[in-house]
Amino acid sequence: MNARLLEQATLALADPEIYRSIQGEEERQLRNLELIASENYVSAAVREAAGSVMTNKYAEGYPGRRYYGGCEYVDVAETLAVERLKTLFGAAYANVQPHSGAQANMAVYFTALQPGDTIMGTALDHGGHLTHGSKVSFSGKMYKVVTYGVSRRNERFDYDEIRAIAQTHKPKMLVTGWSAYARIPDWKAFADIAHEVGASLFADIAHVAGLVAAGFHPTPVGHADYITSTTHKTLRGPRGGVILTDAERGKAIAKTVFPGLQGGPLMHVIAAKAVCFGEALKPEFKDYARQVVANAKRLARGLESQGWRIVTGGTDNHLMLVDVSVRGLTGKAVEEYLDDIGITVNKNTIPFDKNPPAVASGIRLGTPAITTRGMKEPEMDEIAQIMGAAMEDIGKGLRRSTLRSRVYELTSAFGVP
Ligand SMILES: *Cc1c(COP(=O)(O)O)cnc(C)c1O
Repeated sequence: MNARLLEQATLALADPEIYRSIQGEEERQLRNLELIASENYVSAAVREAAGSVMTNKYAEGYPGRRYYGGCEYVDVAETLAVERLKTLFGAAYANVQPHSGAQANMAVYFTALQPGDTIMGTALDHGGHLTHGSKVSFSGKMYKVVTYGVSRRNERFDYDEIRAIAQTHKPKMLVTGWSAYARIPDWKAFADIAHEVGASLFADIAHVAGLVAAGFHPTPVGHADYITSTTHKTLRGPRGGVILTDAERGKAIAKTVFPGLQGGPLMHVIAAKAVCFGEALKPEFKDYARQVVANAKRLARGLESQGWRIVTGGTDNHLMLVDVSVRGLTGKAVEEYLDDIGITVNKNTIPFDKNPPAVASGIRLGTPAITTRGMKEPEMDEIAQIMGAAMEDIGKGLRRSTLRSRVYELTSAFGVP
């Protein structure tokens, strides 16, 4: 029996209920078509590191400066993670300890701001993230929030509009980076606007980090004062967060992360982050990122050619928003129907949405996960056809089983790591 099978057998005996839930999830990931833009499949090597004995180790502090003995091996892992990440993005300082994207963002705010300061972030329904000033998040409770959004004219950022808002409200920080924006931002324009009003520029590249690392999306390095990312979206690593900045700001960030916000770092996750960054430095990752973008463009075109409206008219990255209200549908209804035939997506508000978030007029689609499975342009055409037929069938329900078979046929032909 190989090591993985043996480990599973152990879990099956030790805790059959959890074992069955993991088995079920494994089968779901294999059988379904994963179009959630923020998800991906990590390599077996990343999973092995994340499931390793490094979970047993306390390592408060930083490599060479720990508050616990026995850190010689975890130090190797964290140093590799930091150095690889710096190389990947050309950054002077990298912190790999944040447990998540939200915690990385919290560390940036706590470093650069005082409670009550003003931040200027993108509204949630224009692609921003909860941690960019939403009332339900700490960011909206601790800071005064001014929001900006995309222009009604073309659903893209209008830098003159953004500059005018910044000059009126004089925020201490301009927050950029999005969960649902399909176009290339002008990092220099954002930096100019921020610095003109004395604000720092924060770029949260949680979604596009893998594309940035591979050179298929402009980098905010050199423009933004603080950069954060998750490691589990296009970067294709374990769940977690990272922070990049210059050497001077890095000293303050280090203190905010530990001891300011966190205790012991998750060393098994940091080891897995190092494996992920090592993978992202390889030439194959460039091919992957190139295909992610090519697939997204192809899928958008396939849907558009059937009369569906893509917000902004297309995509430059790994994701797109489809406006389903043009045919009288809601994001909720589409998400439910697609789920039933094995396609996983999320409903999403579109800019200037008339529906509340729980209903939404759009769905958000992304190609990172299906591209990891090896799908290319012909599969994007088939997915667009299946989705088009599915959306036509909502309220009728005549084609569910046929469409479910077509999804299954597609996923059966492509394995998962
Ligand atoms: C996903 C995301 C985050 C949060 O990451 P978590 O690891 O879920 O906390 C932060 N910012 C943006 C823009 C995101 O898309």
